[in-house]
Amino acid sequence: MSDIRHRPRSEQLYEEAQRHIVGGVNSPSRSFKAVGGGAPVFMARGQGAYFWDVDGNRYIDYLAAYGPIILGHAHPHVTEAICKAAADGTLYGTPTAHENVFASMLKEAIPSLDKVRFVNSGTEAVMTTIRVARAYTGRDKIIKFAGCYHGHSDLVLVAAGSGPSTLGIPDSAGIPVSIAHEVITVPFNDLAALELALDRWGSETAAVMVEPIVGNFGMVMPEPGFLEGLCRMARAHGALVIYDEVITGFRFHFGAAQTFAGGGFPDFAAIEPDLTALGKIIGGGLPIGAYGGRRDIMERVAPLGPAYQAGTMAGNPASIRAGIACLKTLRQPGVYAKLDALASRLEAGLAEGARRHGVPLTINRIGGALSTHFCDHPIRSYEDAQRADGDRFARFFRLMLEQGICLAPSKYEAWFLTIAHTEADVDETIAAADRAFAAMAQA
Ligand code: PMP
Repeated sequence: MSDIRHRPRSEQLYEEAQRHIVGGVNSPSRSFKAVGGGAPVFMARGQGAYFWDVDGNRYIDYLAAYGPIILGHAHPHVTEAICKAAADGTLYGTPTAHENVFASMLKEAIPSLDKVRFVNSGTEAVMTTIRVARAYTGRDKIIKFAGCYHGHSDLVLVAAGSGPSTLGIPDSAGIPVSIAHEVITVPFNDLAALELALDRWGSETAAVMVEPIVGNFGMVMPEPGFLEGLCRMARAHGALVIYDEVITGFRFHFGAAQTFAGGGFPDFAAIEPDLTALGKIIGGGLPIGAYGGRRDIMERVAPLGPAYQAGTMAGNPASIRAGIACLKTLRQPGVYAKLDALASRLEAGLAEGARRHGVPLTINRIGGALSTHFCDHPIRSYEDAQRADGDRFARFFRLMLEQGICLAPSKYEAWFLTIAHTEADVDETIAAADRAFAAMAQA
């Protein structure tokens, strides 16, 4: 068992980073601000389910880079694909045969994708689905759900106003109020609120955008009938339905949430979105995004149509070849069953430990992903997640980190299993959590 209280090299690097890089990090979610501050851990190397930091400490990784690293770090198939791509030249500015292979793999797994486009991030993918939906419908407004994160483009960094049916307010400085007014935010799993919003703004609404299974305020399933009602109501008002599957794509099975049928899960496959955004896992750890959907909608995109979207790096051979290698590996039999079994073992161990020490903990698990909220109420909406105890999470996060278990530094983020994790890793994690719960119970 590691004892990682002191990380002098990380602290020194953080000091230095803050002189050069804003906040010392290249994405705010990497800072430890939400868990009490201080130096984030600077990692030196990842292999399989493990990280080693710059001070030489080893960690079991449940961050998985916020989702993409489903095969574990430096999986040999992905590494080989990247090395080959590098040897062949990393960027051409021309089409390549690899893009066709990859597009048809995605289409086969997610049949609603008549046509796709590759971009460089989930943010770009989502941003473009919105533009395309607006181009197609000739309308400007978007309805989204509170707590769902859709990247950092202006339109989706907008929070709800004070009531359930008010126009949005910017969630970030630098977003014009006029843009925020094009966005309506309603609570997840709340069809009545959606109906209210559509009654008022339905004729101006280009699209209803949703994470069909939420990954951004914990892992949260839609309640039975929610997605079906959402699709029906949106379409009744002539609005498109956009699924943001940046997290959920290839996370729970070889496909997306929209193709997720059986296995005890609701029959998502009965309803199809008009447009879908993808990212994370489909790049095998390299930068990527993709969007796609119905042919007549996608054909509004340049060069066929008037909606412009482009990218110097889009469809670059390295990301595409890494993505192909990743998906081929995920397609092998038993992969998702393994992720499910590992996460189930972890869930049971965490729940048992928390119960034994009297620590209130709500665990939501879907396949190989789970979330832990320190509270005794269920987590079905962002409001539920906001009410979970952030200070307790921060304590738990640090107690786990000191024992070599790496979680995301936020009470809202999920834990992701990879195919590189073993039962022994999970058991080590459960033992560490048990000690953490014991310490928390005493405090
Ligand atoms: N959509 C969802 C559901 C996400 O979780 C994220 C990132 N966490 C994004 C979009 C944005 O993706 P990216 O960070 O690649 O821009």
